[in-house]
Amino acid sequence: MGLHIGSLILGVIILQQGISLKVHSPHVAIIGGGIGGAVTSHFLTELFNESVKIDLYEPKTIGGRLATIKIDEDEIEAGGSIIHSKNMYMQRFVKLLGLEKNPSSAGTFGIWNGDEFIFKASDWSAVSLMKLFYRYGFQLYNLKRERERREKVVPEHLIYRNKKVNVVPSRVTKIRNLVNDYDSSQYEVTYINKGSTDPMTSNYDIVIIAAPLTSDQEFQIEFAEFPDNLVFPGKYQTTYATFIKADLKPKYFGLQEPLDGILSCNPNKTTISSVGKVGPVDGSIRKDPQVWKVFSRKPLESSLIHDMFSKVIEKKEIAWKAYPRYSTKMNFNNFKLHDALYYVNAIEWAGSTMEMSAIAGRNVAILTYNDFIQKFPNSILTSKDSKDTFKKLCSEDL
Ligand SMILES: Cc1cc2nc3c(=O)[nH]c(=O)nc-3n(C[C@H](O)[C@H](O)[C@H](O)COP(=O)(O)OP(=O)(O)OC[C@H]3O[C@@H](n4cnc5c(N)ncnc54)[C@H](O)[C@@H]3O)c2cc1C
Repeated sequence: MGLHIGSLILGVIILQQGISLKVHSPHVAIIGGGIGGAVTSHFLTELFNESVKIDLYEPKTIGGRLATIKIDEDEIEAGGSIIHSKNMYMQRFVKLLGLEKNPSSAGTFGIWNGDEFIFKASDWSAVSLMKLFYRYGFQLYNLKRERERREKVVPEHLIYRNKKVNVVPSRVTKIRNLVNDYDSSQYEVTYINKGSTDPMTSNYDIVIIAAPLTSDQEFQIEFAEFPDNLVFPGKYQTTYATFIKADLKPKYFGLQEPLDGILSCNPNKTTISSVGKVGPVDGSIRKDPQVWKVFSRKPLESSLIHDMFSKVIEKKEIAWKAYPRYSTKMNFNNFKLHDALYYVNAIEWAGSTMEMSAIAGRNVAILTYNDFIQKFPNSILTSKDSKDTFKKLCSEDL
């Protein structure tokens, strides 16, 4: 009998330890390898003190909207690239990863209304200004000459330096809520590998979505067996970025000499929102013809390209789902969609920049960790090191 009770206690201990061990090393899925997913993986590993296993799903290239494009022989920034000096998280990652700052070059620019230039200036980073203009409009002229910096390799470095992160080159198609009292895994993730059509599944304790979920996105995710209906209203603005290696015709704009950057204050009339010279990401200087990046809300017709440019060597276009279409009647999405299911890109409905995704990634990591230790208060993760990291992260002004 004594032996029986002993075995039972031992069994319970083993059972408890078995479950404990499982829940104490949470298995996490992060969906999306843009800056949001990369920052989330970084802070999760810090908080869980390495006692975590992360599968990060990314069907395309790590970096998401911070992509580059090849024009002729050169690699050019195709999406987000400017880190403003006031972007504290992004600045911090650049420093942490020992990356070089690549200051934007100065240039000439003007504001064009379709008939004439209402403003012209030099000694400003035209490219940076245009990108900021693309995001925020004219208010930036009040910001004076802040020094911007560009850096595009932060997500890659943040992810690959971390041995706890396993990159899965697949798109996630479904997340199923598992109702199972004995298994600590809560969610079943279905995914399809690059080049395959066969769906595969893996189970996770925690799932973090770091990609937009609106119905207009390329990769849709189905949510199955969740108690609440998970809906993601709204749409993203399509912005066309056209890269043209050619000579800009100053005459088209009524100029004698070309400017490095031209901003349109009347895109309905001009079709283009901006045109600016862009250099290769390695910082090398190229002779003419240069690569020009044109932003527009519609694809550029070839007749317009030939009116604006001569000696066209190459042309490529990317249609970006760039940022949410904001409206005053918006409902914000929640960062927490279910018990242990989180949504980093909810932040985009407040603002859509690298820094915003980095802030959301950090806060979702803190929320995830906090929820986990509330749920498993005796977890070994509540060790001093983890608690200290948690306190440090929560108390930081950043
Ligand atoms: C043209 C352009 C210029 C910009 N300029 C600037 C700038 O100068 N400065 C600035 O701060 N910001 C800029 N931005 C905004 C900035 O790029 C974004 O806010 C930021 O990169 C968003 O990062 P993210 O990780 O949240 O999303 P994303 O970068 O979109 O990453 C999401 C990732 O999830 C993946 N994914 C999607 N669905 C699935 C799925 N079902 N399964 C698996 N993976 C999936 C995608 O492939 C993608 O890689 C610009 C954006 C654009 C488009």
